[in-house]
Amino acid sequence: MSEPAAKHLWQLSVAEASRLLAAKDISSVELTEAFLDRIADVDSRTRAYITVAADTARAEAQAADRRIAAGESTPLTGIPMQIKDLLSTEGITTTCASRMLENYVPVYDATAVARLRGQGAVLLGKGNMDEFGMGSSTENSAFFPTRNPWDATRVPGGSSGGSAAAVAAGEAAYALGTDTGGSIRQPAAFCGVTGLKPTYGRVSRYGLVAYASSLDQVGPIARDAADCAVILQAIAGHDRFDATSLPNPAPDYSAALTGDISGLRLGVPEQYFADGMDNGVRSAVTAAIEQLRDRGAEIREVSLPTTEYALACYYVIAPSECSANLARYDGVKYGYSHQGEGDMWEAMERTRQHGFGPEVKRRIMLGAFALSSGYYDAYYRKAQQVRTLIREDFDRVFGEVDALAAPVSPLVAFPIGDRTDDPVRMYLVDVYTLPVNIAGLPAMSVPCGFSDGLPVGLQLIGPHLAEGRLLNIAHAYQQATNWHRARPDI
Ligand code: GLN
Repeated sequence: MSEPAAKHLWQLSVAEASRLLAAKDISSVELTEAFLDRIADVDSRTRAYITVAADTARAEAQAADRRIAAGESTPLTGIPMQIKDLLSTEGITTTCASRMLENYVPVYDATAVARLRGQGAVLLGKGNMDEFGMGSSTENSAFFPTRNPWDATRVPGGSSGGSAAAVAAGEAAYALGTDTGGSIRQPAAFCGVTGLKPTYGRVSRYGLVAYASSLDQVGPIARDAADCAVILQAIAGHDRFDATSLPNPAPDYSAALTGDISGLRLGVPEQYFADGMDNGVRSAVTAAIEQLRDRGAEIREVSLPTTEYALACYYVIAPSECSANLARYDGVKYGYSHQGEGDMWEAMERTRQHGFGPEVKRRIMLGAFALSSGYYDAYYRKAQQVRTLIREDFDRVFGEVDALAAPVSPLVAFPIGDRTDDPVRMYLVDVYTLPVNIAGLPAMSVPCGFSDGLPVGLQLIGPHLAEGRLLNIAHAYQQATNWHRARPDI
């Protein structure tokens, strides 16, 4: 870990870069070239990118500089970012890390991407991920795994592993990831960066390739909470192209960052500190909670007894929705198409056989089974009933406390290959992140220390639409600590 006095441009946070751009100390072209050079230097080691869009990035940087010169900039104008390859980008390949969409070039931007580009953000390229978002380690990418910048033998987490690794390694100032069951928070924790999964519906899902539509949400991965606030501000809000996007106007998130958390009631759910968790994770998270107490928060132990059912509930609902959503990949409408001997049905079967990787096929089969006649009541309906109980658990504790503090993951980044042979062991990594998606809540991952040299993430969970509160808690913590400033030597 290092903290050099004179920063390279690729080490700047969004806020720092924005100040230098506004003062005309640097140009977006210089900043963008610095990130492109950094990618050229380190991406062969991290493999955080599926596509680097250098030419369009340069053109966008020039346009941003013109906009800044004309006095029409916003805090994101001219700042280079990476987008997870599950979000549609006009004219730039969007593979979802799948052979199925290896050559798919969308004709429109996802709303979240369009809103960033509308502010003059510079798109460096597309982030590696688990195929269609299904996984916890980025090892399910059809192309190559991403490596953790803190230790190249370890996973970066997943599914937005390329995005978290890129931000940690200085290959982007920030990134957009997506979180269906933990895919922003867990890789942010494993890579030592700050991630925010907004309330379900806070950010439009239009142009986000669907995995599990009742759980999917788009959010920022950045260096700190203050940057996350600026990015969320840009992407949040109603979108007429997504009927599930919330009508509530987005509040001023940066204004919420007072750093004052005195009197805040912070709940610590006992079920999130179960046996079997890494001792280093336990002590780092416990110390972080103590720090929040020192800043004036009132700590209360709370209970979420349905936590133990979240994993089973999620792994019925998510595959069920995935089996319906992925039915569209039939070789006719999108992407890969197997042409050869046989009739239409045979072509469709071969398309899906060769186009999807093993984990995606496993999920489709699990989901099709759970939804099939005779099993629907026993699995899918039961999971929906459990979902209601989990939501009620959170509703009850949010009557007693303002937010919850817990670990993001029971572990730190594990070795590449360690869990690929045992899907259930891989699914277990998500125990502390899934309940939040099931209940549609906002949550953050905040760097809070190290265990065996690998970053640990503190999870902050809030009631619906309490993003501003969570950002402020994280900001208060980051004013008092330096964990978010630690960078890997790569
Ligand atoms: N690891 C979980 C899964 O495989 C969550 C992934 C995600 O949030 N996209 O489904």
